[in-house]
Amino acid sequence: MTLQTNPFDDDKLREECGVFGIIKSDSAAAMTALGLHALQHRGQEAAGIVSFDGEHFRSHHALGHVGESYSSETVISRLVGSAAIGHVRYSTTGETALRNVHPLFADFDFGGFSIAHNGNLTNAYTLHKQLVKRGCLFRSTTDTEVIIHLMAVNNKGTVIDRFIEALKQVEGAYSLVALVNNMLIGARDPWGIRPLVLGRLGEAWVLASETCALDIIGAAFVRDIEPGEVVILDGKNLQSLKPFNKVPRRFCIFEYIYFARPDSMLEGHSVYETRKQIGVELAKEAPANADIVVPVPDSGLPAAIGYAQQSKLPFDLGIIRNHYVGRTFIQPTDRIRHLGVKLKHNANRRFIEGKRVVLVDDSIVRGTTSTKIVEMVRAAGAREVHMRISSPPTKHSCFYGIDTPQKEKLLAHNYTVEKMTRFIGADSLAYISMDGLYRALGEAKRHAGTPQYCDACFSGDYPITLTDLDTNEIQGQLSFLKIKKVGE
Ligand code: SF4
Repeated sequence: MTLQTNPFDDDKLREECGVFGIIKSDSAAAMTALGLHALQHRGQEAAGIVSFDGEHFRSHHALGHVGESYSSETVISRLVGSAAIGHVRYSTTGETALRNVHPLFADFDFGGFSIAHNGNLTNAYTLHKQLVKRGCLFRSTTDTEVIIHLMAVNNKGTVIDRFIEALKQVEGAYSLVALVNNMLIGARDPWGIRPLVLGRLGEAWVLASETCALDIIGAAFVRDIEPGEVVILDGKNLQSLKPFNKVPRRFCIFEYIYFARPDSMLEGHSVYETRKQIGVELAKEAPANADIVVPVPDSGLPAAIGYAQQSKLPFDLGIIRNHYVGRTFIQPTDRIRHLGVKLKHNANRRFIEGKRVVLVDDSIVRGTTSTKIVEMVRAAGAREVHMRISSPPTKHSCFYGIDTPQKEKLLAHNYTVEKMTRFIGADSLAYISMDGLYRALGEAKRHAGTPQYCDACFSGDYPITLTDLDTNEIQGQLSFLKIKKVGE
């Protein structure tokens, strides 16, 4: 039987990575595996852990879920050492070559160096071409490897100096964890696009993409790593450096809408509370004459609760999600392919029949799933279907670490709301406004000149230069990884 990528794609944007690091723990690898398990939603195709015992680095990289790859006592016990970093990854092609699975590792003149990255570098291809001309040989096709080569070609100063000098040359979004010389390093790009938090567990320091990864190991949240901050944790002390020119903070607003886990706190906001509040604002802006509010599970759930509370309509789980649809699916025949969305979602007919339904979802990407869900709810007997979306229309691609189709494939890039309503077959469709979204985050409105968050996939206002996209011959490609994928 052939295994292939799930053909019943849920048509969502996908977070590409999650990172975790710990130092001064007597079970560093096990803690890292647990942390990665909590971050599984940020990448399901592969996971890697590198540990350090003061002398040797050890690594394990595997395709598949953390639970599948790190449940064995043998794997964890082989990863000896009191420090470890880990990474979960989502690859955009359905295939992930093992050599691309983070953490990456290199042997330098100063010793071993391992690094894991959440984000995407927007000048990686340009730098890659320059580095290859200088004789660098790349072993992976991930953008992150340029950081290693930039450190290799500059042998001035300490390892931290070389790391910082390398970061000064890269553009794009990065939240990094690295292990070197008994030090755990964390770094966030100057705009702070992707999250990175600091925690403490007894004497151990912990770095993680989200606070849910601190919770799972019982670590206390200390603070967010600041945009443009490099922290060096040597097991005793924390050293904080701010080596980059200051730029306005532009945290990814979509982390609140969809990517982060609802039980995480990011940049001082509870993700769950924010999603609920977005639902409240959405109900104020786009009320509907309806009988019942139904979330498209799971991501539409908190916003639907907020929408129902504000509109004083009953809330019910009118769609049930099957959580056991895997990453891969046994080759479907044409006979079952049409069942599509039903593998993942089923209408709870008893609660829907004869009702005017408000369906709440977080976004519409290509519109394929929304179309099927509206159809399914109608087939279950809904009298009317009113779709409400807890983000503004997704009109542009993300180049900062989220897998998005090219903008030409985004429904909202091509269609007006009126046309989209017809396309998905709803009686009405409304999105939250940009100001409504900012209000849900406690802002009076979006600042026109320099907005408080990155919202480029809605506005097209990209805070960080897109050098590769603007200057090279592969214009239109979404990421360095895709460009170099040929032949893998
Ligand atoms: Fe987040 Fe969208 Fe900005 Fe990407 S473009 S970082 S998804 S807000």
